Amino acid sequence: MIKIGPAGSSGLGNLKGVCKVAEMDLDCMEVEFTYGVRMDLETARDVGALAKEKGVILSVHAPYYINLASDETEKFTASKERILASCERAHAMGARNVTFHAGFYQKRTHEKTYQLIQKALMDLKKTISRKRWQVTLCPEVTGKTSQFGSLEELLRLKEEIGCGITVDFSHLYARHRGDVDYGRILNKLPKKFHAHFSGIEYGDKGERKHIRTTERFFKPLAKELVGRNLDITIINESPSPYEDAVMMKNVLQTLVLGGCHAA
Ligand SMILES: [Zn+2]
Repeated sequence: MIKIGPAGSSGLGNLKGVCKVAEMDLDCMEVEFTYGVRMDLETARDVGALAKEKGVILSVHAPYYINLASDETEKFTASKERILASCERAHAMGARNVTFHAGFYQKRTHEKTYQLIQKALMDLKKTISRKRWQVTLCPEVTGKTSQFGSLEELLRLKEEIGCGITVDFSHLYARHRGDVDYGRILNKLPKKFHAHFSGIEYGDKGERKHIRTTERFFKPLAKELVGRNLDITIINESPSPYEDAVMMKNVLQTLVLGGCHAA
């Protein structure tokens, strides 16, 4: 199953956002803590109960201000706390996947950065299992070359510490300046993962910003997705995530129907 939904509630608030997801016949929604975790646990439980009632799958995006490779103790500690606060709310909401951008290379080598982030994630995993939170840490494929998070780095983390991953296909597009082969990428991925997609503007250093998703931009990915037996959630992160998620769902449905007619 390929499940599709918006990032955030487009300013409606999470409760109304969940209702809109259901009304628009979408499947999932990512609760955004991108500028800070500002939700108490009671609200998290309410959002989770409503999502369950409406059959909407929730995930969580932890704040942007995270650097698990920072050598400044204060920043490092705050980064871990932000992820844990996100996980606690995710657990209260019944959201499994917790997405975040893990950190920056700064002046370190890629390998050293990897080691620091790996260690931090192992510590976080320990805390999560001690607290018995039913969540999966899903560091994200990032869009800027200064950010830790190439597909290879994330697959290595998954392999070595058993975390999840968030595959942002538009970030991959930006990292490789439009030179992407979605088929080859999907061949490297497991059957089950969490994903992001939207239109994207990029420059020499990668991602500039997320923009509206056109059918033309989504189709090359959609064509590669439909033939595979995947169990994935794709969150649309465009400035109009509900509308673009509906478009993506329609494109996939048309491709699937077209495939059946051809057969
Ligand atoms: Zn993303």
